[in-house]
Amino acid sequence: MSISNNLKQIKATLPDHVTLVAVSKTKPIPDLMEAYENGQRIFGENKIQDMADKFEAMPKDIQWHMIGHVQRNKVKYMASFVALIHGVDNYKLLEEINKQGEKHNRTINCLLQIKIASEDSKFGMSPTLASEILQSQDFSTLKNIQITGVMGMASFTEDEQQVETEFKLLKSTFDNLKELNTNKSVFNTISMGMSGDYKLAIQSGSTMVRVGSSIFGTRS
Ligand SMILES: *Cc1c(COP(=O)(O)O)cnc(C)c1O
Repeated sequence: MSISNNLKQIKATLPDHVTLVAVSKTKPIPDLMEAYENGQRIFGENKIQDMADKFEAMPKDIQWHMIGHVQRNKVKYMASFVALIHGVDNYKLLEEINKQGEKHNRTINCLLQIKIASEDSKFGMSPTLASEILQSQDFSTLKNIQITGVMGMASFTEDEQQVETEFKLLKSTFDNLKELNTNKSVFNTISMGMSGDYKLAIQSGSTMVRVGSSIFGTRS
């Protein structure tokens, strides 16, 4: 199936309140352009350099989402244009994003990545740390970032029950954190669900799915 057909099929299954991030990592620009020409305006990349290259080359009404693990020393390469950083999992990274936001005179939207999988390999902070950060004095001084929600990745397993349990943990973490957030209207995003599990994620409360291979085909 073609990229445009894949995209149309997936969009047809998404409820209105769910945003689709087309995960285009490793894919060439012509593939992204096919999605763009079919109306897609949000793309997700996991390497900052690749995202910056694609930003340079592509139309400027695209929203670029950084979905991968972020190294602090690379924030500067995306600070001028990134629309949302999904993988913020420590306070020092927030400080650096804030500093770069200040430099570029803009507010950078971030999601707190929460560790919901039982596997050790996944990045993310504990729900407790997330709530401590949101309530801290230090955090309240960061004026050039905005936390708009949470992101999580479920375990890589066939066990749907386990995946559902992990998604529900992210949803309840979101609900708890929202109570702490002074700016409740901007804290509205639960980024969870990929090609293999986005339907289950939506049933569990996702508002943003990150779908790659089901749109662009498998990655080599
Ligand atoms: C690659 C990736 C995705 C998309 O995965 P698919 O299975 O290809 O849909 C989603 N989220 C993150 C964080 C990723 O790295």
